[in-house]
Amino acid sequence: MTSLTAPRAARVPFLDAGAGYRELRAELDAAYARVMESGWYVLGEEVEAFEREFAAYCGATHCVAVASGLDALTLTLRALDVGPGHEVLVPAHTFVATWLAVSAAGARPVPVDADAATGNLDAARLSGAVGRRTRAVVPVHLYGRPADVDAVRAAAGGVPLVEDAAQAHGARLRGARAGSLGDAAAFSFYPGKNLGAFGDGGAVVTSDAALAERLRLERNYGSPRKYVHDTKGVNSRLDPLQAAFLRVKLRHLDAWNDRRRAIAERYLAAIERRPGVIELPPAGGDAEPAWHLFVVRSERRDELQEHLRGAGVETLVHYPVPPHRTGAYASDGPWPDLPVADRLADTVLSLPIGPQLDDASVERVVDAANAFGP
Ligand SMILES: *Cc1c(COP(=O)(O)O)cnc(C)c1O
Repeated sequence: MTSLTAPRAARVPFLDAGAGYRELRAELDAAYARVMESGWYVLGEEVEAFEREFAAYCGATHCVAVASGLDALTLTLRALDVGPGHEVLVPAHTFVATWLAVSAAGARPVPVDADAATGNLDAARLSGAVGRRTRAVVPVHLYGRPADVDAVRAAAGGVPLVEDAAQAHGARLRGARAGSLGDAAAFSFYPGKNLGAFGDGGAVVTSDAALAERLRLERNYGSPRKYVHDTKGVNSRLDPLQAAFLRVKLRHLDAWNDRRRAIAERYLAAIERRPGVIELPPAGGDAEPAWHLFVVRSERRDELQEHLRGAGVETLVHYPVPPHRTGAYASDGPWPDLPVADRLADTVLSLPIGPQLDDASVERVVDAANAFGP
């Protein structure tokens, strides 16, 4: 049977993980060859060069590259002497790794409920959670939108502020980049992040020289030089191969974030706001979000996701279960009531966004969203 209808348009994937490689193939292949031929495969010059370049990009003086974002958070907390008997303030609505880092350091995560508009930690609720065991606060720049670190700092009672910047490479708050807003910042280079490696990776960025020095020891067996071990450190190092790839991608990060911003602006302008049906995230305000994710809300979230899937648009939920309700943490309660985090888990939906998403795909997402009725 022949059909007169147009062939079905290609589906819009949530993320095309290989697109970044295809765009930068020549540069990445050259970086690969350089490292392979160097004969040097752990730490060394390539990692140091990336550390210098990424610290400068963030507007900080030091960067210590490690094996993952989770390690970046955990090692930073340990280097700040956070440990057993201590509490760390964390957002109730975040990826579970923020909490896992606190647990890995031996301390207890104390959740602060989210701001309903942005999903970020609500600084107004923070002072109620501060206690005599509080040793740090870890705001997350969720979905790439900088947390209001000034308000967080003012409410947190002088404890160190560690940014979880895993979703916010290149984001700015009142002109300053994520990574320069706290006492230290943890980044992830998981492939799907705004600056992603081809495997796992992470880094701590700080302008505190003593903290950076301690982290350099901790990530490398507590060892300042071969066979000298000053602390019981770990092995958590970024590979030179990943460092070389990240140096290539770092040169394109601003342009890629510009493309994300253009897509976010198109969604904000073209998707109809309908209370309860589709609600859109706020624009940047005095922040310049990195738009890691574009997250809408709907009272009929599962139905909306199904509708979009039918229209060929793939979406994800970030995140369907708040950390305090996961198997990892449910039995560590009682937890305080966290109504905003619970509601977000039931209503959020992430639309496709990314530097390689083309205009035709963006328009398909817009049309599909607007066709969700009534
Ligand atoms: C990705 C992520 C992490 C963990 O990073 P990994 O490199 O996957 O360990 C931590 N916090 C947040 C908010 C993240 O999105």
